[in-house]
Amino acid sequence: MDISIVVPLYNEDESLPHLAEWIDRVMESHGFDYEVIMVDDGSKDRSWAVIEQLRDKNPRYKGVKFRRNYGKSAALNVGFSHASGDVVITMDADLQDSPDEVPELYRMIKEDGYDLVSGWKKKRYDSKLAKNIPSKFFNWTTRRLSGIKLHDFNCGLKAYRHDVVKSIEVYGEMHRYIPVIAKWAGFGKIGEKVVQHRKREFGVTKFGLNRFVNGYLDLMSIMFMSKFGKQPMHFFGLVGSCSFLLGFIALVVVCVLRLCGRIALTNSVWFYLSMLFVLMGAMLFLAGFLGELICRNSTTRNSYLIEKELL
Ligand code: UDP
Ligand code: MG
Repeated sequence: MDISIVVPLYNEDESLPHLAEWIDRVMESHGFDYEVIMVDDGSKDRSWAVIEQLRDKNPRYKGVKFRRNYGKSAALNVGFSHASGDVVITMDADLQDSPDEVPELYRMIKEDGYDLVSGWKKKRYDSKLAKNIPSKFFNWTTRRLSGIKLHDFNCGLKAYRHDVVKSIEVYGEMHRYIPVIAKWAGFGKIGEKVVQHRKREFGVTKFGLNRFVNGYLDLMSIMFMSKFGKQPMHFFGLVGSCSFLLGFIALVVVCVLRLCGRIALTNSVWFYLSMLFVLMGAMLFLAGFLGELICRNSTTRNSYLIEKELL
């Protein structure tokens, strides 16, 4: 199969028939062998009924329905696990992403050799204050922290080589960072394509402003997990040891000063500060050690992504 299109959706019943019609038109005119996997993220409207109708008409349509709303990342993750196309395309259900982009995205993966191609909504049709300006800032920090040169990390329209979606795991709200996750998994050839963006015609946006707080916390988790996830001691042990050492030296100095009668311990701020550093150091060290113990028992401690084998 050439292409799997994965569509996460939550309360999008009005858009779905139009989206399906558009996808079919583009796919058929290019002669692709394709499938469309619709993941209903616990919709409360008629979305699932629409998916059943689509399936009845065309067996290329597949559907999964969650019992409740788990979020876009969960929907993508499940969609990925069912995808069997050489190239996997993700697309929002709300008609803001255009299926007309699919053939070129497919070509970039197949011929130009990209592992992942992310859409870039260069001209964006969303509210300026709530989306466009915060997004610029968000993209800038993610670019700086991850070293990946993308303008639009969170674009719903993306294309992946088959191996990529089978090797990565998306959960929580990590869908914003799929390029970062892919890069850490060893898929370094990440490209970008300017894509048409459209106004939302039906329904409402599902993401409010709280996404920024969660977004940054998720970014920190990813950076931290990828750097120190398998060796927590390298972080906590180092910071803890430094803090302990600093505190210990300070404590010795303070005690010597006390013995010379220069200061009284109980009202010296230096005494409390040095104690604080010693304690903090010991605690950080302990946190790292506990982290290591947990890693040692984790079932994934020795799971690596293998690209090639000659056995
Ligand atoms: N979505 C989802 N689960 C959620 C929230 C959103 O599957 O909990 C889907 C939604 O139906 C749409 C896509 O994710 O297909 C993008 O959502 P939305 O258009 O609301 O985001 P925006 O374009 O406003 O950033
Ligand atoms: Mg949208």
